[in-house]
Amino acid sequence: MALLIKAGREAPENWIRAFNAAFPDMECRVWPEVGKREEIEYFLGNELPEGEFAKLPNLKLVAGTRVGVEGLLKDASLPRHIPIIRNTDRQRAATMTGWVLYHVIRHHRRFAEFAANQQARKWEHLQFTAPEKLRIGIMGLGNLGGTVARSLTALMYDVAGWSRSPKKIAGVESFAGAEGLPAFLARSDVLVSILPKTPATNDLMNAERFAQLPKGAYFINCGRGTTVDEPALLAALDSGHLSGAALDVYKVEPLPADHPFWGHPKVAMTPHYSCTGSASYGAEGVIEAIRKVRAGETLTNTVDRKEGY
Ligand code: NDP
Repeated sequence: MALLIKAGREAPENWIRAFNAAFPDMECRVWPEVGKREEIEYFLGNELPEGEFAKLPNLKLVAGTRVGVEGLLKDASLPRHIPIIRNTDRQRAATMTGWVLYHVIRHHRRFAEFAANQQARKWEHLQFTAPEKLRIGIMGLGNLGGTVARSLTALMYDVAGWSRSPKKIAGVESFAGAEGLPAFLARSDVLVSILPKTPATNDLMNAERFAQLPKGAYFINCGRGTTVDEPALLAALDSGHLSGAALDVYKVEPLPADHPFWGHPKVAMTPHYSCTGSASYGAEGVIEAIRKVRAGETLTNTVDRKEGY
Protein backbone atom coordinates (compact mmCIF):
# COMPACT_ATOMS: atom_id res chain seq x y z
CA MET A 1 0.00 0.00 0.00
CA ALA A 2 1.38 3.40 -0.94
CA LEU A 3 0.27 7.04 -0.98
CA LEU A 4 1.47 9.26 -3.80
CA ILE A 5 1.90 12.91 -2.85
CA LYS A 6 2.07 15.88 -5.19
CA ALA A 7 2.07 18.57 -2.56
CA GLY A 8 1.08 22.16 -3.18
CA ARG A 9 3.02 24.93 -1.49
CA GLU A 10 3.81 22.91 1.63
CA ALA A 11 6.85 20.64 1.88
CA PRO A 12 5.87 16.97 1.31
CA GLU A 13 7.80 16.01 4.47
CA ASN A 14 5.16 17.73 6.60
CA TRP A 15 2.43 15.56 5.09
CA ILE A 16 4.58 12.45 5.29
CA ARG A 17 5.19 13.01 9.01
CA ALA A 18 1.44 13.04 9.67
CA PHE A 19 0.76 9.94 7.54
CA ASN A 20 3.69 7.97 8.99
CA ALA A 21 2.35 8.57 12.48
CA ALA A 22 -1.13 7.37 11.49
CA PHE A 23 -0.14 4.48 9.20
CA PRO A 24 3.35 3.11 9.97
CA ASP A 25 2.80 0.42 7.31
CA MET A 26 1.99 2.88 4.51
CA GLU A 27 4.72 4.05 2.18
CA CYS A 28 4.59 7.69 1.07
CA ARG A 29 6.04 8.52 -2.31
CA VAL A 30 6.54 12.00 -3.69
CA TRP A 31 5.70 12.77 -7.32
CA PRO A 32 7.35 12.15 -9.78
CA GLU A 33 8.97 9.20 -7.94
CA VAL A 34 5.94 6.96 -8.42
CA GLY A 35 7.71 3.59 -8.16
CA LYS A 36 5.54 0.55 -8.91
CA ARG A 37 2.29 2.11 -10.06
CA GLU A 38 0.12 -0.81 -8.99
CA GLU A 39 1.10 -0.17 -5.37
CA ILE A 40 -0.41 3.34 -5.31
CA GLU A 41 -3.79 3.22 -3.55
CA TYR A 42 -4.14 6.84 -2.47
CA PHE A 43 -3.29 10.16 -4.08
CA LEU A 44 -2.87 13.48 -2.32
CA GLY A 45 -2.58 16.51 -4.59
CA ASN A 46 -4.49 18.93 -6.74
CA GLU A 47 -3.64 17.57 -10.17
CA LEU A 48 -1.46 15.19 -12.13
CA PRO A 49 -0.33 15.55 -15.73
CA GLU A 50 -3.20 14.55 -18.04
CA GLY A 51 -3.47 10.78 -18.39
CA GLU A 52 -1.46 9.85 -15.27
CA PHE A 53 -4.43 8.77 -13.14
CA ALA A 54 -5.29 6.12 -15.72
CA LYS A 55 -1.88 4.55 -15.05
CA LEU A 56 -2.70 3.89 -11.36
CA PRO A 57 -4.79 0.69 -11.57
CA ASN A 58 -5.35 0.24 -7.81
CA LEU A 59 -6.18 3.81 -6.90
CA LYS A 60 -8.91 3.92 -4.22
CA LEU A 61 -9.03 7.51 -3.04
CA VAL A 62 -8.01 11.04 -4.05
CA ALA A 63 -7.64 14.02 -1.72
CA GLY A 64 -6.65 17.58 -2.52
CA THR A 65 -4.21 19.69 -0.52
CA ARG A 66 -6.35 22.70 -1.47
CA VAL A 67 -10.11 23.11 -1.16
CA GLY A 68 -11.02 23.78 -4.81
CA VAL A 69 -11.10 20.58 -6.88
CA GLU A 70 -11.15 22.20 -10.34
CA GLY A 71 -7.72 20.75 -11.23
CA LEU A 72 -8.80 17.21 -10.39
CA LEU A 73 -12.19 17.37 -12.09
CA LYS A 74 -10.86 18.62 -15.42
CA ASP A 75 -8.76 15.46 -15.78
CA ALA A 76 -10.75 12.87 -17.73
CA SER A 77 -8.20 10.19 -16.84
CA LEU A 78 -9.36 10.21 -13.20
CA PRO A 79 -11.92 7.36 -13.21
CA ARG A 80 -15.37 8.51 -12.11
CA HIS A 81 -15.75 5.77 -9.51
CA ILE A 82 -12.70 6.93 -7.51
CA PRO A 83 -13.92 9.07 -4.63
CA ILE A 84 -12.42 12.54 -4.12
CA ILE A 85 -12.80 13.63 -0.54
CA ARG A 86 -13.71 17.18 0.40
CA ASN A 87 -11.17 19.23 2.31
CA THR A 88 -12.33 19.80 5.89
CA ASP A 89 -9.20 21.50 7.25
CA ARG A 90 -10.08 23.25 10.53
CA GLN A 91 -7.26 25.72 10.15
CA ARG A 92 -8.52 26.83 6.74
CA ALA A 93 -11.97 27.39 8.19
CA ALA A 94 -10.52 29.36 11.11
CA THR A 95 -8.30 31.60 9.00
CA MET A 96 -11.05 32.19 6.44
CA THR A 97 -13.37 33.14 9.29
CA GLY A 98 -10.82 35.67 10.54
CA TRP A 99 -10.59 37.28 7.09
CA VAL A 100 -14.38 37.54 6.73
CA LEU A 101 -14.89 38.84 10.27
CA TYR A 102 -12.24 41.50 9.66
CA HIS A 103 -14.07 42.77 6.58
CA VAL A 104 -17.54 42.59 8.14
CA ILE A 105 -16.35 44.52 11.18
CA ARG A 106 -14.24 46.96 9.15
CA HIS A 107 -17.39 47.83 7.19
CA HIS A 108 -19.87 47.71 10.07
CA ARG A 109 -17.73 49.65 12.56
CA ARG A 110 -16.52 52.09 9.87
CA PHE A 111 -12.82 51.50 10.43
CA ALA A 112 -11.83 52.86 7.01
CA GLU A 113 -13.38 56.17 8.04
CA PHE A 114 -11.50 56.11 11.35
CA ALA A 115 -8.26 55.60 9.42
CA ALA A 116 -9.06 58.68 7.32
CA ASN A 117 -10.00 60.63 10.45
CA GLN A 118 -6.72 59.73 12.06
CA GLN A 119 -4.86 61.12 9.06
CA ALA A 120 -6.91 64.33 9.41
CA ARG A 121 -6.33 64.40 13.22
CA LYS A 122 -10.12 64.43 13.63
CA TRP A 123 -11.69 63.15 16.89
CA GLU A 124 -15.17 61.87 15.98
CA HIS A 125 -17.39 59.07 17.33
CA LEU A 126 -18.93 57.49 14.23
CA GLN A 127 -22.28 55.80 14.82
CA PHE A 128 -22.89 52.18 13.92
CA THR A 129 -25.93 49.90 13.72
CA ALA A 130 -26.56 47.40 16.53
CA PRO A 131 -25.12 44.08 15.31
CA GLU A 132 -28.46 42.27 15.56
CA LYS A 133 -29.84 44.78 13.06
CA LEU A 134 -27.16 44.09 10.45
CA ARG A 135 -28.36 41.30 8.16
CA ILE A 136 -25.51 39.21 6.86
CA GLY A 137 -25.98 36.61 4.13
CA ILE A 138 -23.47 33.83 3.56
CA MET A 139 -23.55 32.13 0.15
CA GLY A 140 -22.18 28.62 0.64
CA LEU A 141 -22.58 26.93 4.03
CA GLY A 142 -19.98 24.21 3.76
CA ASN A 143 -16.84 23.73 5.86
CA LEU A 144 -15.81 27.36 5.36
CA GLY A 145 -19.16 29.15 5.09
CA GLY A 146 -20.69 27.17 7.96
CA THR A 147 -17.81 28.11 10.28
CA VAL A 148 -18.04 31.76 9.23
CA ALA A 149 -21.82 31.78 9.81
CA ARG A 150 -21.51 30.32 13.33
CA SER A 151 -18.84 32.86 14.27
CA LEU A 152 -20.98 35.76 13.06
CA THR A 153 -23.93 34.59 15.17
CA ALA A 154 -21.63 34.65 18.23
CA LEU A 155 -21.07 38.36 17.49
CA MET A 156 -24.88 38.85 17.52
CA TYR A 157 -25.26 39.57 13.79
CA ASP A 158 -28.51 38.59 12.05
CA VAL A 159 -27.16 35.76 9.89
CA ALA A 160 -28.72 33.82 7.03
CA GLY A 161 -27.15 31.37 4.63
CA TRP A 162 -27.83 30.15 1.12
CA SER A 163 -26.83 26.71 -0.12
CA ARG A 164 -28.02 24.09 -2.55
CA SER A 165 -29.71 22.05 0.16
CA PRO A 166 -31.37 23.48 3.31
CA LYS A 167 -29.19 23.60 6.44
CA LYS A 168 -29.84 23.53 10.17
CA ILE A 169 -27.31 25.79 11.89
CA ALA A 170 -28.36 27.32 15.21
CA GLY A 171 -29.22 30.98 14.78
CA VAL A 172 -28.77 30.94 10.99
CA GLU A 173 -31.81 31.28 8.72
CA SER A 174 -31.50 28.83 5.85
CA PHE A 175 -32.36 29.62 2.23
CA ALA A 176 -31.79 27.06 -0.49
CA GLY A 177 -31.75 26.67 -4.25
CA ALA A 178 -32.76 29.04 -7.02
CA GLU A 179 -36.17 29.63 -5.43
CA GLY A 180 -34.60 30.78 -2.15
CA LEU A 181 -32.13 33.20 -3.72
CA PRO A 182 -34.22 36.38 -4.29
CA ALA A 183 -35.49 36.52 -0.68
CA PHE A 184 -32.02 35.76 0.64
CA LEU A 185 -30.44 38.55 -1.42
CA ALA A 186 -33.17 41.01 -0.46
CA ARG A 187 -32.31 40.58 3.24
CA SER A 188 -28.49 40.76 2.90
CA ASP A 189 -27.04 44.10 4.03
CA VAL A 190 -23.69 42.35 3.81
CA LEU A 191 -23.35 39.51 1.30
CA VAL A 192 -20.44 37.08 1.69
CA SER A 193 -19.76 34.62 -1.12
CA ILE A 194 -17.85 31.45 -0.19
CA LEU A 195 -19.11 29.40 -3.11
CA PRO A 196 -17.06 26.93 -5.15
CA LYS A 197 -16.27 27.30 -8.84
CA THR A 198 -18.88 25.23 -10.68
CA PRO A 199 -20.96 25.68 -13.84
CA ALA A 200 -23.93 26.66 -11.63
CA THR A 201 -22.07 29.42 -9.76
CA ASN A 202 -20.46 30.95 -12.85
CA ASP A 203 -21.41 34.67 -13.02
CA LEU A 204 -24.10 34.02 -10.42
CA MET A 205 -23.62 37.53 -9.05
CA ASN A 206 -24.64 39.48 -12.13
CA ALA A 207 -26.35 42.87 -12.57
CA GLU A 208 -29.80 41.45 -11.83
CA ARG A 209 -28.68 39.82 -8.57
CA PHE A 210 -26.67 42.80 -7.34
CA ALA A 211 -29.84 44.87 -7.93
CA GLN A 212 -31.75 42.49 -5.61
CA LEU A 213 -29.49 43.44 -2.68
CA PRO A 214 -30.68 46.31 -0.45
CA LYS A 215 -29.34 49.73 -1.44
CA GLY A 216 -26.03 50.36 0.31
CA ALA A 217 -25.23 46.64 0.66
CA TYR A 218 -21.61 45.56 1.06
CA PHE A 219 -20.25 42.65 -0.98
CA ILE A 220 -17.51 40.27 0.16
CA ASN A 221 -16.09 37.51 -2.05
CA CYS A 222 -13.60 34.93 -0.83
CA GLY A 223 -14.96 31.88 -2.70
CA ARG A 224 -14.03 32.06 -6.37
CA GLY A 225 -13.76 35.00 -8.78
CA THR A 226 -15.80 33.11 -11.36
CA THR A 227 -18.94 33.70 -9.25
CA VAL A 228 -18.88 37.42 -10.06
CA ASP A 229 -19.69 39.31 -13.24
CA GLU A 230 -16.96 41.88 -12.58
CA PRO A 231 -18.27 44.68 -14.86
CA ALA A 232 -21.67 44.30 -13.13
CA LEU A 233 -20.00 44.61 -9.72
CA LEU A 234 -18.13 47.75 -10.82
CA ALA A 235 -21.37 49.25 -12.18
CA ALA A 236 -23.20 48.53 -8.90
CA LEU A 237 -20.36 50.18 -6.93
CA ASP A 238 -20.19 53.20 -9.24
CA SER A 239 -23.96 53.75 -9.22
CA GLY A 240 -23.92 53.79 -5.41
CA HIS A 241 -26.18 50.75 -5.14
CA LEU A 242 -23.36 48.94 -3.33
CA SER A 243 -21.45 50.80 -0.62
CA GLY A 244 -18.29 48.77 -1.13
CA ALA A 245 -16.68 45.42 -1.73
CA ALA A 246 -13.93 43.30 -0.19
CA LEU A 247 -12.42 40.89 -2.66
CA ASP A 248 -9.91 38.08 -2.35
CA VAL A 249 -10.57 36.22 -5.60
CA TYR A 250 -10.85 37.37 -9.21
CA LYS A 251 -11.76 36.14 -12.67
CA VAL A 252 -8.11 36.37 -13.72
CA GLU A 253 -5.36 35.80 -11.13
CA PRO A 254 -2.97 37.48 -10.66
CA LEU A 255 -5.27 40.44 -11.27
CA PRO A 256 -3.95 42.36 -14.32
CA ALA A 257 -2.22 45.65 -13.42
CA ASP A 258 -4.75 47.70 -15.42
CA HIS A 259 -7.83 46.17 -13.76
CA PRO A 260 -10.22 48.84 -12.38
CA PHE A 261 -10.44 47.06 -8.99
CA TRP A 262 -6.86 48.09 -8.10
CA GLY A 263 -7.49 51.81 -7.77
CA HIS A 264 -11.18 51.69 -6.90
CA PRO A 265 -11.95 53.75 -3.77
CA LYS A 266 -14.75 51.38 -2.70
CA VAL A 267 -12.81 48.14 -3.13
CA ALA A 268 -10.62 46.49 -0.48
CA MET A 269 -8.44 43.78 -1.98
CA THR A 270 -6.20 40.88 -1.01
CA PRO A 271 -4.44 38.53 -3.48
CA HIS A 272 -6.17 35.14 -2.92
CA TYR A 273 -4.94 35.23 0.64
CA SER A 274 -8.00 34.83 2.82
CA CYS A 275 -7.20 31.42 4.28
CA THR A 276 -4.36 29.05 4.73
CA GLY A 277 -4.05 25.40 5.63
CA SER A 278 -1.21 23.23 6.79
CA ALA A 279 -0.40 19.56 6.55
CA SER A 280 -0.92 18.89 10.24
CA TYR A 281 -4.59 19.92 9.99
CA GLY A 282 -5.16 19.03 6.35
CA ALA A 283 -4.03 15.46 6.99
CA GLU A 284 -6.75 14.87 9.61
CA GLY A 285 -9.55 14.42 7.08
CA VAL A 286 -7.38 12.41 4.70
CA ILE A 287 -6.30 10.03 7.49
CA GLU A 288 -9.92 9.54 8.51
CA ALA A 289 -10.88 8.75 4.91
CA ILE A 290 -8.02 6.29 4.42
CA ARG A 291 -9.02 4.56 7.67
CA LYS A 292 -12.57 4.21 6.34
CA VAL A 293 -11.40 2.83 3.00
CA ARG A 294 -9.21 0.29 4.79
CA ALA A 295 -12.10 -0.72 7.07
CA GLY A 296 -14.46 -1.03 4.10
CA GLU A 297 -16.70 1.74 5.47
CA THR A 298 -18.69 4.16 3.35
CA LEU A 299 -17.04 7.51 2.77
CA THR A 300 -19.02 10.62 3.56
CA ASN A 301 -18.21 14.15 2.43
CA THR A 302 -16.98 13.26 -1.02
CA VAL A 303 -16.97 15.55 -4.04
CA ASP A 304 -20.09 15.36 -6.19
CA ARG A 305 -18.58 15.05 -9.68
CA LYS A 306 -21.80 16.10 -11.40
CA GLU A 307 -22.16 19.29 -9.33
CA GLY A 308 -18.43 20.03 -9.51
CA TYR A 309 -17.63 20.49 -5.79
P1 NDP B 1 -17.87 22.92 0.68
O1 NDP B 1 -17.90 22.00 -0.46
O2 NDP B 1 -17.75 22.40 2.07
O3 NDP B 1 -19.17 23.88 0.66
C1 NDP B 1 -19.65 24.47 -0.51
C2 NDP B 1 -20.97 25.15 -0.19
O4 NDP B 1 -21.44 25.83 -1.35
C3 NDP B 1 -22.07 24.16 0.25
O5 NDP B 1 -22.84 24.70 1.29
C4 NDP B 1 -22.90 24.03 -1.02
O6 NDP B 1 -24.27 23.69 -0.81
C5 NDP B 1 -22.79 25.43 -1.59
N1 NDP B 1 -23.06 25.45 -3.02
C6 NDP B 1 -22.36 24.87 -4.02
N2 NDP B 1 -22.95 25.08 -5.21
C7 NDP B 1 -24.06 25.79 -4.96
C8 NDP B 1 -25.10 26.32 -5.77
N3 NDP B 1 -25.11 26.13 -7.09
N4 NDP B 1 -26.09 27.00 -5.17
C9 NDP B 1 -26.11 27.18 -3.83
N5 NDP B 1 -25.15 26.71 -2.99
C10 NDP B 1 -24.15 26.03 -3.56
O7 NDP B 1 -16.66 23.93 0.38
P2 NDP B 1 -15.82 24.82 1.40
O8 NDP B 1 -16.72 25.53 2.32
O9 NDP B 1 -14.72 24.02 1.96
O10 NDP B 1 -15.16 25.85 0.35
C11 NDP B 1 -15.98 26.66 -0.48
C12 NDP B 1 -15.15 27.27 -1.58
O11 NDP B 1 -14.28 28.27 -1.06
C13 NDP B 1 -14.18 26.30 -2.28
O12 NDP B 1 -14.84 25.53 -3.25
C14 NDP B 1 -13.16 27.23 -2.88
O13 NDP B 1 -13.52 27.56 -4.19
C15 NDP B 1 -13.23 28.47 -2.00
N6 NDP B 1 -11.98 28.69 -1.30
C16 NDP B 1 -11.34 29.89 -1.40
C17 NDP B 1 -10.13 30.09 -0.76
C18 NDP B 1 -9.41 31.39 -0.83
O14 NDP B 1 -8.24 31.45 -0.46
N7 NDP B 1 -10.05 32.46 -1.22
C19 NDP B 1 -9.50 29.04 0.02
C20 NDP B 1 -10.30 27.85 0.16
C21 NDP B 1 -11.50 27.69 -0.52
P3 NDP B 1 -24.69 22.27 -0.12
O15 NDP B 1 -24.24 22.40 1.33
O16 NDP B 1 -26.17 22.23 -0.24
O17 NDP B 1 -23.95 21.21 -0.84
